[in-house]
Amino acid sequence: MNKIEKLVSDLKRFNKAYRKSTPYITDQEYDALIEKLKKLDPQNPFLNAVEPEIFKDKKEVKHPAPMLSIEKAYSKEQLERFIARVKKEAEEIGITNPEFTVMPKLDGLAGRDDGKVLATRGNGTVGYDITELFKKGLEPIGGRGGGLGELVAVKSYFKKYLAERFVHPRNMVAGLVAADNINEFAKKALAEKKIHFVPYIFLNKWTGTGEELLEDSENIFEYLAKKTDYPMDGMAVYAQDEEIKKYMGATANAYRWQVAVKTKGETGVTTVKDIVWQVGRTGNITPVLLVEPLHLSGATIRRITAHHAGMANNEKIGKGAVIEVIRSGEVIPKLEKVINKSLQFNIPVKCPSCGFKTVWNNDFLKCENYNCKARIEQRIVHWFKTLGNADWFGIKTVRKLVKAGYDNIKKIYSLREIDLVNIDFGPVQSKNLILSLITSRKKKIEDWRFLAAFGVINLGIGESVKLLSYISLEKISEATAEFIENIEGFGPITSLSIDRGIRRISDDLNYMLALGFNLEKTPKASEIRSKTSPIAGKRIIFTGKMEAGTRVDMQIKARKLGATIQAAIAKNTDWLIYGKDAGVSKLNKAKKLNISALSEKEYIDLLKK
Ligand SMILES: [Zn+2]
Repeated sequence: MNKIEKLVSDLKRFNKAYRKSTPYITDQEYDALIEKLKKLDPQNPFLNAVEPEIFKDKKEVKHPAPMLSIEKAYSKEQLERFIARVKKEAEEIGITNPEFTVMPKLDGLAGRDDGKVLATRGNGTVGYDITELFKKGLEPIGGRGGGLGELVAVKSYFKKYLAERFVHPRNMVAGLVAADNINEFAKKALAEKKIHFVPYIFLNKWTGTGEELLEDSENIFEYLAKKTDYPMDGMAVYAQDEEIKKYMGATANAYRWQVAVKTKGETGVTTVKDIVWQVGRTGNITPVLLVEPLHLSGATIRRITAHHAGMANNEKIGKGAVIEVIRSGEVIPKLEKVINKSLQFNIPVKCPSCGFKTVWNNDFLKCENYNCKARIEQRIVHWFKTLGNADWFGIKTVRKLVKAGYDNIKKIYSLREIDLVNIDFGPVQSKNLILSLITSRKKKIEDWRFLAAFGVINLGIGESVKLLSYISLEKISEATAEFIENIEGFGPITSLSIDRGIRRISDDLNYMLALGFNLEKTPKASEIRSKTSPIAGKRIIFTGKMEAGTRVDMQIKARKLGATIQAAIAKNTDWLIYGKDAGVSKLNKAKKLNISALSEKEYIDLLKK
């Protein structure tokens, strides 16, 4: 490979990483390389090339059941709380001392192999068909049809042959899925059977009670980690019993019966070369430390984002500071501690993007200019990322659009192909961008995703689901702080901030709604927990064998109708529902406490009212 070819190949790689929001190098470094290429070979096609389309020819696959993500527990206390929650709910359905399973949480690309098609997780509902990778050498562990699993590179192989070429094994795997032309090293790894699809059922596991797990968690995690030659980002802990899983169910995003636990990570020491300040969507200005390359758990680390500016300020982290970095296998490496402070260190007094005077809010340094360019760009990126149904609008593209005056989503949705060509996008890219805008309107998405995409502070995905289950999107501008605060889970300050945020986006929201997005309505809480349901708000307990369905099914239904299910009779129990062969002692106890007992038939008749 000559110098120019090498440069182009690097640029392509950096560009791809950039669009996946995992940049290897800074924008300045990237631009410098472009300048270099312009000098070396002004006619090089790369300079005019369009970005290759991701998933261009890939078929979409709808998952039979949504592939939800896993909630994270960052501390042992959170794991303890999770275990306590499972135990409590297990008791409600009569299971005492439930068992838990621990398995490595692989850090690759989640997918599903039904024996015919291998599909990526995608947005959880719809993924992409990547079955053809088997033909290229992808190794199905345990054979085809293993169900849910992870696409990963063998860790020892990656460390030995590829660590220098890819930032993280995950990036390589993501590249395999996205690219039409697979990188030569990745191709070789595939041919050598070092890229696997690992169904979760074939992973090493540990099973035991909650007490056993909490008592010995570190050894258990270490034992499993040692047996796993794949990159991991922690351990997955879940309730073993199917009835418990069914009873606990899921939130909009994650199953309630499982949690991901962060395990102790590898640490290393490096020096800060430079510090750049990054302005986020909400105006937080955070320092990004550019460091001497550091190899940690199979990845090369070049930049570390500090949690907030206060940390950099207190610890005097600037050019020349020596820091310890920890990487727990998760994608983002973290600053663990500062070994040597920096001699020269400055906190920006002006926003690096818009020049507004910066202000401190606790530990956060902020740009409070709502019209700050960086914030505008991040808001637009956030929109497309949250909708999750249209590629192409990465930060580079958005920057170019904002620069040309398309600085809000309303304007972006008014773009025509010719406008894009006029602001110097290539013809193919222009076409794809327009297609992408159309797709984002036509493809069905949940209305809470649409609302969350506006990026109102404190109104993320979880809050949007909650809010929309009480008020419809069309009426959302009528949601006052008082109204919001009455919904469980919203405090007074958050409610006020959401109220203000909604007012701010209200025009945009109506405009976007009028464009005709294909929205799926969030079911109303009143439809699920009808206030007229005779058992809403009642505390009930089931005992004995039920005939209309299993006891767990009936408990799940009662819960949906707004009842609280109790594990044992208490003074505040409202009703005892008894089936066949119900224990006499329970019935007696209910009598003693003056709790009404209903037979299964009486209960079902009551529900019909
Ligand atoms: Zn600013």
